[in-house]
Amino acid sequence: MTTIAFIGLGNMGNPMAANLVKAGHTVYGFDLLPDNLSVAKANGLSVASSAVAAVAEADVVITMLPAGKHVLAVYESVAKAAKHNALFIDSSTIDVESARKAHEIAKQHGLLSVDAPVSGGIGGAAAGTLTFMVGGSADAFAKAEPVLKHMGARIVHCGEDGNGQAAKICNNMILGISMIGVSEAFTLAEKLGLSHQSLFDVASTSSGQCWSLTTYCPVPGPVATSPANNDYKPGFAAALMLKDLRLSQDAATSVGAATPLGAHAEAIYAEFSAAGNEGSDFSGIVNYLRIAKREN
Ligand code: NAD
Repeated sequence: MTTIAFIGLGNMGNPMAANLVKAGHTVYGFDLLPDNLSVAKANGLSVASSAVAAVAEADVVITMLPAGKHVLAVYESVAKAAKHNALFIDSSTIDVESARKAHEIAKQHGLLSVDAPVSGGIGGAAAGTLTFMVGGSADAFAKAEPVLKHMGARIVHCGEDGNGQAAKICNNMILGISMIGVSEAFTLAEKLGLSHQSLFDVASTSSGQCWSLTTYCPVPGPVATSPANNDYKPGFAAALMLKDLRLSQDAATSVGAATPLGAHAEAIYAEFSAAGNEGSDFSGIVNYLRIAKREN
């Protein structure tokens, strides 16, 4: 079994690390928040006094942190303290540029690394059914895959350094745009006197079919498990959707890609979040669109 350091034990990190413990690995955990360390201890992790202390014995170092600046700061401080042949896995959702810088830091210290962001949310983290989108060399992927399998159901190698993050933000740009599209259709249907169920029955088996409609339907009723039936409790919070849309637009700017609908989706989610909905599930955008005024 492997000795693993897990840095960043928040909503996602703690349940992911718990699955590594359940699989029989020795896991040293570190987080800045004492409450999160208490949860980690209860889950069977060995709590370390610092990130540097956590990595000392580790063959694999996993980070699950808020943003690129946190990942780079942790890599800068721990890479020199890591074992010579350790593998670094960053599962945070961060910008592609920072992800590639993190790989550079690892390389400077002779370490293998992958960027491996996830989809599947807190439920997937707890159930060990996350999808991992992995960027990095074939050697690094081969070493990472058996570890990731304890936390995920699908592990996809997306190519070289940073491509896991690229896949994540492209996917979530589709999701943000499609959720707004589906929500606009429901609000238009309401005004036209068409019931939610009728629109669902037609669109879910027609060319309007998509995940935002059939799995995560933004109005209560048609899909029993969607957050719309649970008062729009996340699920996937609007603040996280906004974060990912911003990452997609920063990336689009940096490479000169035209993403007009991605930009518009970012603006709509920014308004939705600023109106006090950042903690609501992102599918709650339907309620915001219902009261929005048509501009003409
Ligand atoms: P979170 O805020 O609950 O956890 C992040 C943790 O990192 C916090 O506990 C924080 O104290 C810790 N931290 C920050 N700086 C640190 C440092 N220098 N050393 C040690 N710990 C540090 O966030 P989360 O919901 O667990 O998300 C983590 C990442 O996963 C984010 O990048 C997020 O975008 C991504 N993600 C989240 C979800 C979700 O549904 N929550 C889904 C997919 C991806």
